[in-house]
Amino acid sequence: MPEMPQMQALAERLDAALAGATLERADLLGFASLKTVEPEPDVLVGRRLERVDRRGKYDLLCFEGGYRVALHLSQAGRVDLELPPKATRPRGSLVRLTFSGPSAAVLLREHGTQRKAGWWVLGPGDDGPLASLGPEVDSEAFAELLRHDQSPRRLYTWLRDQHVVAGIGRGYTDDALHRANLSPFATVGSLDAEAREQLLAAIRTVLAEGLEAERGRTGGLSEPRLGEHFTIHGRVGEPCPRCGATIRRVSFDSYEVAYCTCQTGGTVLADRRLSRLLR
Ligand SMILES: [Zn+2]
Repeated sequence: MPEMPQMQALAERLDAALAGATLERADLLGFASLKTVEPEPDVLVGRRLERVDRRGKYDLLCFEGGYRVALHLSQAGRVDLELPPKATRPRGSLVRLTFSGPSAAVLLREHGTQRKAGWWVLGPGDDGPLASLGPEVDSEAFAELLRHDQSPRRLYTWLRDQHVVAGIGRGYTDDALHRANLSPFATVGSLDAEAREQLLAAIRTVLAEGLEAERGRTGGLSEPRLGEHFTIHGRVGEPCPRCGATIRRVSFDSYEVAYCTCQTGGTVLADRRLSRLLR
C-alpha cells in the first residue's frame, strides 16, 4: 500500500504538473469508488486547481473556493498522470479528472479485484475522512505521543492505526521496527525512554530514505508493485542485512509481518501458517 513517501512524492509531482490548471470534466468510470454524495463532482468543473497536498495516506487536490478531492489508494489503487489526457478506459478505472491549461488528466484506477481505492469530493470546511486521522508521522505531535504513550497495544498494530498516527503502513512499519531493533509485538507501554527515541529515529530515517527514493520516480504512481527498496518488508526468506539470519514472518489472513530474530532477542514468533503446516 502506498504510504507517506509514495503519496507525498506523488502529491509533489501532481502539484508540479497541474497547479493552476482548470478542471474541464470529471468522468466517473467506477461508481462505487466515489465515497461522497454531496457535493457532486460537477461542482468542481470550471474551478482552478490551486495545489496538491497530502494528509496521511491521502492526496488532496485543492480547488479554488475551498473544494478538495481526496484520493486514497488502499492496497492496489494507482494514479496515472496523463499528458495529454487519454480517452481510453483501462481495466479497473475509477475516475478521470481532465484539466486544461495545461492539458492533462489524472486517472484513478485499481489493480486486481479488490475494490478499496476511493475518492471524496469535500466542500469548504469539510474534512471528511481526514477528520479522524492522528498527527502526521513526521510531526512533533507524533514524536511527543511516542515519547509518552502508555498503550498496552502492540507496536505493529499501534503504528499502523491511522487514528493514532497518519501516514505509515505495513511496509515502513516492518522496516522501522527492524531498524530500531524492536519486536513488532512489544507493547507501546513497555518501551523505555531509550527505545522510544530509537524507534522515533528509525521511523524518521526509513521515511526520509523512502521519500528520497520516491522523489526519483516520474509521472503518476502506476506500477502494480511499489517499494522494492524495503530492507525487510516483503523479503521473507532472504538474509537479514544486519545479522544474516533468515527474515521470518507472522502471517495473518490478508497480510504478513516481516521480522528477524535479531529484533526479538532470538525468539521465533508463533506463526499460524507455519503451525498449520507442522501439525
Ligand atoms: Zn537480523
